Amino acid sequence: MTNAVQNIWRHADATPENVALRADGRTWTYDELRAGIARAAVELERRGVGRGDRVLLVVPTVAEFVFVYHGVLSLGATAVTVNTLCTAPEIEYFLTDADCKLAVGYRDVADALLVAATAVTRPTWILDPGSIGPGAVGAAGERPSYVDVDEHDAAVLLYTSGTTGKPKGAVLTHHNLLASGNALSQVQAIGPDDRVGTALPLFHVYGQASVMASTQHVGAALSLQRRFDAVSMLEMAASHRLTTMAGVPTMWNEMLHARTSLSAHDLSGLRLCLTGGAPLPKAVSEAFQARFGPRVIDGYGLTETTGAATAQSPAHEPKEGSVGRPVPGTTVTVLDADHQPVPIGEVGEVAIDGPGVMREYWNRPDATAAVRNGRWFLTGDLGRMDADGDLWIVGRIKELIIRGGYNVYPSEVEDVMYGHPAVLECAVIGLPDERLGEEVAAVVVVQPGVSLDLADLREWLAERLAAYKVPRVYQVCDALPKGTTGKILKRDIDHDEVLNNGIRPQRI
Ligand code: ATP
Repeated sequence: MTNAVQNIWRHADATPENVALRADGRTWTYDELRAGIARAAVELERRGVGRGDRVLLVVPTVAEFVFVYHGVLSLGATAVTVNTLCTAPEIEYFLTDADCKLAVGYRDVADALLVAATAVTRPTWILDPGSIGPGAVGAAGERPSYVDVDEHDAAVLLYTSGTTGKPKGAVLTHHNLLASGNALSQVQAIGPDDRVGTALPLFHVYGQASVMASTQHVGAALSLQRRFDAVSMLEMAASHRLTTMAGVPTMWNEMLHARTSLSAHDLSGLRLCLTGGAPLPKAVSEAFQARFGPRVIDGYGLTETTGAATAQSPAHEPKEGSVGRPVPGTTVTVLDADHQPVPIGEVGEVAIDGPGVMREYWNRPDATAAVRNGRWFLTGDLGRMDADGDLWIVGRIKELIIRGGYNVYPSEVEDVMYGHPAVLECAVIGLPDERLGEEVAAVVVVQPGVSLDLADLREWLAERLAAYKVPRVYQVCDALPKGTTGKILKRDIDHDEVLNNGIRPQRI
């Protein structure tokens, strides 16, 4: 008996009255959560979905996501959860690549899905707010239980973009999800009395594996906010008396600068925040803790590892800049270009083995083989590990800047830049350079109402970084391109624009 929804059934039996979910001003107990899932399952079955089928979901961070997603899993079918901002051609690709039997969309983000589903003749199910929870009008009864599956059956298929070619679907199994929920709930030491809050997109692995799965693993309460907004997130933390929150670095940064009178006193129940998805600048985590109280612990992982593969421990003082140690059951190593372990402390490619590692890329044996080396999944990230097993991520292999033969890790430079009082956000990138191969450049968003002198910033960085790491080219912009989790997307920065129009301040 292995279905990733099994824990929800367990809590609905043991603690039916405990709060499971809060979203959009409503609250559902574990009993009601199970009922909502069971009704979603009936509706899915009525539309022909059964074990082994794939169902596309274009649904934001709302309660209906939780009902339908688990409804799909309870039938032994696979949820293909994609970004609610996808265009019709993108959705068409997912529908055909994953050969989906049904496309489910949330009413106000379903336009592209309707166009795509018509183009490739797939049936659709459009969800209106409130149409699927327990007690929904016209609901056709409940499915009594969930389907037993093989633990290596696909539970979800999550597309990741990669740098070239079409997005690949990472196949995550019921085993992967259960393992990830278990590991993350242990790391955060959450239990049934915890109240977890997030505004992360649930179609992304972080929302699913690190937040939903770990919350439901222990029977905690999950508060959802559909659109991240720093002030409302902090207000939700206060009014729902959240004990933990999960987010990405840009969210902590925005909360840190939020104009609100809420203080650590109002958030006194908040004991821990979980961050991941991208490097968290030290200046941000320290200032966040100073303003609001809780520690922000960092977790590192990928879609392909079902979320966090390593995490800092809330019980120990973190080592500066480290993403912590492997989560329970997972092993991490650092390999050289020949896939041999590097000596302790040296930088190489981070490789992971553990119960969270995906089964494969959907229908892509070549791509799957390319990220495998024996027992290891190759992450494409550069990192180093110390003798205690603490890991530092220094960047992605493809974002490493090699300036005149020296390696410059963008995150190291960014970390320092975030400490400058005028810098709100920044991204360090490599530009082609005839003499040096690559030159270091920085794109900066300035704090509102503050003026920034670029020569002064360069000087400030030169006092803190080795000369070869200091960006020579600077561009100030209003906003940096971001992905759905708020991660800064360096590949979407117009490198030519920075090369041609960036400013090259001279040393003072
Ligand atoms: P897409 O699939 O849209 O291209 P992506 O490549 O960012 O997105 P994800 O699986 O969402 O894919 O993110 C995984 C990557 O995020 C990791 O390979 C790593 O580079 C980065 N990352 C994740 N967590 C951390 C962290 N705590 N610190 C630094 N980097 C992180």
